[in-house]
Amino acid sequence: MSGSEELVVPGDRIGVAEEFLPGPGTYELDYQIRASAVGRVVRDVIGKVVSVRPLKVPAMPRSDSTVLATISEIREDFAIARIFAVDGDPLPYTFTGILHVAQVAERGGGAKLLYDYVRVGDVVRSKVLNDCPPYIMSLRGARLGVVLANCSRCGAPLRPSGERLKCPQCGNVETRKLGHGYGRL
Ligand SMILES: [Zn+2]
Repeated sequence: MSGSEELVVPGDRIGVAEEFLPGPGTYELDYQIRASAVGRVVRDVIGKVVSVRPLKVPAMPRSDSTVLATISEIREDFAIARIFAVDGDPLPYTFTGILHVAQVAERGGGAKLLYDYVRVGDVVRSKVLNDCPPYIMSLRGARLGVVLANCSRCGAPLRPSGERLKCPQCGNVETRKLGHGYGRL
């Protein structure tokens, strides 16, 4: 085994054919062994094999994935969100999600404003309906909705109080489209 865990990208030279045999994640060209994957170099000095252990590719949200996202902007009938976790795994970077008011609640709830369901800074558990960004988000269904929200008045984390949320600090009561397990991410 090698002590150094150098990071390589495809094409990087990681050995010469006189020293090592090309292992998984490598190829040989003109007596030189090069990486064929992004990953860490593993040199087996006893077996004389050099290989590249691929980096784990982070999961991308896909149609039907459950994601966590922070609401970053609210327009008249849609909100923009930053998706930061997919199916329980944190993402190395965020993806943009769009939440339209029609995808928040079941029909028949009466005319409501998006502001009654989500607000800027809220963390929502959401489904995505497509395979690439910008992701179309949906909060329909009892499981989905706001799971973390702060008081619009004083900024303290809100606590569930029946169907609504209440501020333990200033007593302010707010409405949201709540998801099951509010308070747990
Ligand atoms: Zn408050």
